[in-house]
Amino acid sequence: MRLSKLPLTTFKEVPAEAEVASHQLMLRAGLIRRLASGLFTWMPLGLRVLRKVETVVREEMDRAGAHELAMPAVQPAELWQESGRWDVYGPLLLRMRDRHEREFCFGPTHEEVITDIARRELKSYKQLPVNYYQIQTKFRDEIRPRFGLMRAREFLMKDAYSFHIDQESLQQTYDLMADTYCNIFDRLGLSYKSVDADSGEIGGAQSREFHVLADSGEDALAYTDNEDFAMNVELAPAAAPAGERPAPHASMAKVATPDARTIDQVCQQLAVDPRQTVKTLLVEAATDAGDDALVALVLRGDHSLNPIKAAGVPGVATPLSLASSERIAAVMGAQPGSIGPVGSNIRVIADYSAAHCADFVCGANEDGQHLTGVNWGRDLPEPEVADLRNVVAGDMSPGGNPIAIARGIEVGHIFQLGDKYSTSMDAAVLDSNGRKTAMLMGCYGIGVSRIVAAAIEQNHDEKGIIWPEPMAPFDIALLALNGRKSEEVRSSADKLYETLQAAGYAVLCDDRDARPGVMFADADLLGIPHQVVVGDRGLANGVVEYRNRRSGDTAEVNIADIGAHIAAQQAP
Ligand code: ATP
Ligand code: MG
Repeated sequence: MRLSKLPLTTFKEVPAEAEVASHQLMLRAGLIRRLASGLFTWMPLGLRVLRKVETVVREEMDRAGAHELAMPAVQPAELWQESGRWDVYGPLLLRMRDRHEREFCFGPTHEEVITDIARRELKSYKQLPVNYYQIQTKFRDEIRPRFGLMRAREFLMKDAYSFHIDQESLQQTYDLMADTYCNIFDRLGLSYKSVDADSGEIGGAQSREFHVLADSGEDALAYTDNEDFAMNVELAPAAAPAGERPAPHASMAKVATPDARTIDQVCQQLAVDPRQTVKTLLVEAATDAGDDALVALVLRGDHSLNPIKAAGVPGVATPLSLASSERIAAVMGAQPGSIGPVGSNIRVIADYSAAHCADFVCGANEDGQHLTGVNWGRDLPEPEVADLRNVVAGDMSPGGNPIAIARGIEVGHIFQLGDKYSTSMDAAVLDSNGRKTAMLMGCYGIGVSRIVAAAIEQNHDEKGIIWPEPMAPFDIALLALNGRKSEEVRSSADKLYETLQAAGYAVLCDDRDARPGVMFADADLLGIPHQVVVGDRGLANGVVEYRNRRSGDTAEVNIADIGAHIAAQQAP
């Protein structure tokens, strides 16, 4: 492609609306344009990258024996009522009515539609297993669309659904999909990790997520170096502290902590370690515990609450709902920064680590006051205990190995759904004994458009994007410096453009009437792996300059050898 023919607008300034590197760089490089919150147009260069990702995904799914189909994006409400999700999916689901007042939604996922296909098409165990997939636009009315394509409202997903006669067959396809996902992320040149995960609202038993590793990732992943353990922190169990709780030494005393609202402020004022403090969080109780009931969750000061674990404790509302400051003040008689479990008459559940503390500091249920030297069993009843916190680096895995934490961007998620949809929607086949049996189901998602953003999060520098070669919109950026003035530069660049394309490379030729500085800056911003610079000075000696975008290495190369030089630079 010749840049002079493509209306490409790039800019130097960091767009104010973009918080993360991928969003900033995709806007600056002209890969995407925003239409409205969470809605983006893929501009020509961006679309080339998206199509490359799509191609790798499609090839690997086909290789795994999955069958591509294309389902409608708009789905009738009746199917969702059958599965029971019309009422539980909530505001994430974009609902609409047609001219006959019939209700529909724009699909956020396609379990219902594919189950409807399966119950019509599949009649016998002899037709199983089967794995269908599509690469299609989804809509989720995310509460906080942000980070550009990372959490968009409209996005491209590869979703696959498999049907089985028994668990063994489901397990086989699930394992095959896990391997297929590894092949896909390997082929795309991404550094990634797979972890055990929560199944969320899609439901089912076993699930595994695939994350592109990047510091900006929204998810925290707990893993051990010897790979005996890898789990999303949402799910990772925190081991209870070993040994007996230390005996009490101090006596309980009330101390003033004026204006201290956070654990850090309390610790500073009292000169104590956060591990010597506990914090109390009030959450709504499940409705069967009576209207308006609250539960106090107590964690050690240095730990953070895990909302999924907490919501799983019997009697706590699911999803977890934190009490408002007003409710807290009304129930505890103090602002959130000064509340504690001593003398309260609501249910107290302590995290294992908090229950293991002795002589600790907690809020006194009086504004600006804390208690020191507090001990369970002496100053307040022994608490109920549960695992309520996020694991941290240095915690032990169930196998007794130290846990490390990495940040990740979820780009894929595979689930064993079991008979959740086939039972509610009556998708059954005849088994080998002629008996009607509900099929078992698996589902497998990849965030195709999110992969593009995640790749940039993982691969960029202050100058711009550094595409992994398999995802780059072009292999080579050919810069014709002052080509509008120099006939020699123009004809040499034209010749190279032809020969490099004939050698199988996708070449973006910068033949614009632009200053060299602009060409270099744009080439770096666009992140094309190999740059070939044609200029008068080099041509006088029969050479062009080669620049590697990732390593920054440069070399003077004879014009005739540039193809071979690039081939030698390419990742194997
Ligand atoms: P998340 O936890 O990030 O909201 P999810 O678990 O709801 O995602 P799945 O239902 O597992 O998502 O969807 C499959 C894949 O689709 C995800 O792994 C992710 O890569 C992608 N995806 C989900 N939501 C979005 C979104 N709002 N924007 C872009 N990609 C998304
Ligand atoms: Mg998911």
